[in-house]
Amino acid sequence: MKTTIIAGARPNFIKVAPIIHAIKRAQLKGKDISYRLVHTGQHYDPKMSETFFTELNIPAPDINLECGGGSQAEQTAAIMIAFEKELMSNPTDLVIVVGDVTSSMACSIVAKKLNTKVAHIEAGIRSFDLAMPEEINRIITDSITDYFFTTSVWAGNNLRKNGVKDEQIFFVGNVMIDTLLANKNRFVKPAIWDQLKLVNNQFIVMTLHRPVNVDEPKKLKEIIETILNNVQGIPVIFPIHPRTAKIFTDLNIDATNMHIAEPMGYLEFNFLVKNSKAVITDSGGITEEATVFGIPCLTLRDNTERPETCEIGTNELVGTNPENIKLALIKLFEGKWKKGSIPALWDGNTSGRIAEKILVLH
Ligand code: UDP
Repeated sequence: MKTTIIAGARPNFIKVAPIIHAIKRAQLKGKDISYRLVHTGQHYDPKMSETFFTELNIPAPDINLECGGGSQAEQTAAIMIAFEKELMSNPTDLVIVVGDVTSSMACSIVAKKLNTKVAHIEAGIRSFDLAMPEEINRIITDSITDYFFTTSVWAGNNLRKNGVKDEQIFFVGNVMIDTLLANKNRFVKPAIWDQLKLVNNQFIVMTLHRPVNVDEPKKLKEIIETILNNVQGIPVIFPIHPRTAKIFTDLNIDATNMHIAEPMGYLEFNFLVKNSKAVITDSGGITEEATVFGIPCLTLRDNTERPETCEIGTNELVGTNPENIKLALIKLFEGKWKKGSIPALWDGNTSGRIAEKILVLH
């Protein structure tokens, strides 16, 4: 079985790492499986890409399509043109796409049009919010996928409602959590810890990058100021996504407890999350990681494609209304945040289950 694995953006690297390691383990056992790793170049800043290859021991990509930048359409088109050439030169049995970024959608379309089977890891999750580019990517990818690997029973049911057959759906768990559990004893204390004299459970980690929250400067300023006014002066560490950084500099927010950082490496970022009082975020993956660590997670969105992080885990949809953010922070500081547990099959063994299944696909 020849596979081609697509990775384009930060959350992809974290998801492909354990899949590649599982394929290598299968090879060592003499199984007939190989992979070619295609980096689309969607994220090209070393802090959003290269760092993860080094830290998570991901082999260098076989090719980088260098399709970074541009509008949604420009990027989709560039990836499709480049990946079509790549796939024609290097045919494969199965194209594996992970998550919901533009690269996942663009490469799955190219693969299907070249009559190549597609496996989608993290299939079936839905926010039902078409204002999110990722939701469009999910719907399109899942409408042409052959094999659906899911993180929850709910995701599988979303697919069934769209006519996907039971035998195409494999509930295997969450590859992002494979990476988290495999690396939790390797987390690295970032320099900022000593610089700011951080204390366990006495600081907050914040990330914001969804267009709906960060593209409108007035809204972003209101969100951040509401947070800073309601965290009782404890440090807020804000590793800032390149998209957000562009807007943030003009906001003139000046607060002594606000600490901006560059996007962090995975091992440093999760060291902070694991030791924090809470995470405030609009990321999807971070809500899953916070759930596994049992860290309170305030999601600044009105919906989630990962409802298990709220129903089972420590995540809550707070939205972006200042009054709701304030109330959620009051609850946090009163020590009344819910305790969560870990969703089924988020056990660190998902990539092994995926590799086993891929070996018997036909
Ligand atoms: N992450 C990281 N450094 C950071 C911020 C996030 O390593 O400064 C990791 C985080 O642990 C998670 C992933 O990046 O594994 C989430 O990526 P992102 O929030 O960009 O994407 P989403 O999950 O929203 O698709």
